Amino acid sequence: MRTMSGLLVLSLLALGVVQQSPARAGKLRIVTTLNYLRYVAQEVGGERVTAVALANAKQDPHYVTPTPAMNQLTGDADLFIENGLSLDIWAKNVVDASGNPAIQPGNPGHLIATINVPVKELPTEVSRAWGDIHPQGNPHVWLDPLNVRIIAANIADRLKMLDPANTAYYQSRLEQFRTRLDGALFGEELVRALGKSGGDVLVRKSMNNELGEWLKLRGLEGKLGGWMKEAEVLNGLKVISYHKTYIYFADRFGMRIDGELEEKPGIPPPPQHRDAVVEEIKRDGIRVILNDNFYSREAADYVASKTGAKVIITYLDVGALPEVDTYEKLITYLVQNIAQAVR
Ligand SMILES: [Zn+2]
Repeated sequence: MRTMSGLLVLSLLALGVVQQSPARAGKLRIVTTLNYLRYVAQEVGGERVTAVALANAKQDPHYVTPTPAMNQLTGDADLFIENGLSLDIWAKNVVDASGNPAIQPGNPGHLIATINVPVKELPTEVSRAWGDIHPQGNPHVWLDPLNVRIIAANIADRLKMLDPANTAYYQSRLEQFRTRLDGALFGEELVRALGKSGGDVLVRKSMNNELGEWLKLRGLEGKLGGWMKEAEVLNGLKVISYHKTYIYFADRFGMRIDGELEEKPGIPPPPQHRDAVVEEIKRDGIRVILNDNFYSREAADYVASKTGAKVIITYLDVGALPEVDTYEKLITYLVQNIAQAVR
């Protein structure tokens, strides 16, 4: 009888009738905390993976409340990807509650996507005493495309480890994604003009802050395109942001963050801080206030009413707006939205 039922299951498996879930048809199941990670994982994993994000793209990524539905999603995941750097610390509760040994920290099924990313604003004793919301440095790394290049490679490495039979596939998907990002950042014409490793050279020069000079020496400055070209109007632009969300974006595109509306994380700015920002804006001639969509805009509106600075509501995850459904569109949206305000 036992043998019979075993045979029955075997033959049903052969017919494809018995399936634990669609994911078991050979695809790796990936669960990510944030939507930009879902997007990058899907781009790198292609048809070999299914990727789903836990957070709503419009939500404050620092604070997401775990739900039973999240436990269900993570329960049979093969890979859990978090941003790390103490941004999505809520992920720990989800992973704990999943009951899934594969995705526990330290196992191959758990990935902190930002390993190897150069982190800015490492905390000091002073900032810690102030209750720094970023105890491992600023975690909003993905608003610099060069960091997403690193994150994509981290994800590709992990997929190769979990599914070695498809190593060449993941490598090729990674290269395609990076080529696309390089084209979007520097302009496809420039990347092509520099040959096979053109993207890598441009990335290296950008990381060393010598891109402009390097292009000029070669008479290529006219060929620069993409976000770098489009963002030239942001060069030297001083802005105030509600939270320290834009430091990586600003450094990549030449914008300068003059200060924050938020004095302490998670607490609405007290009146005396708002007034200090008003004075700062007047003194430094600041024209733009960036306010993430999930923070109240009350303080920004108050400061704007006293100074004439423009408030821009910004989104920072893929899918926060229907038209921002890819990472590339997110960066395009940010560059164009901020540039528009200063034209
Ligand atoms: Zn933050």
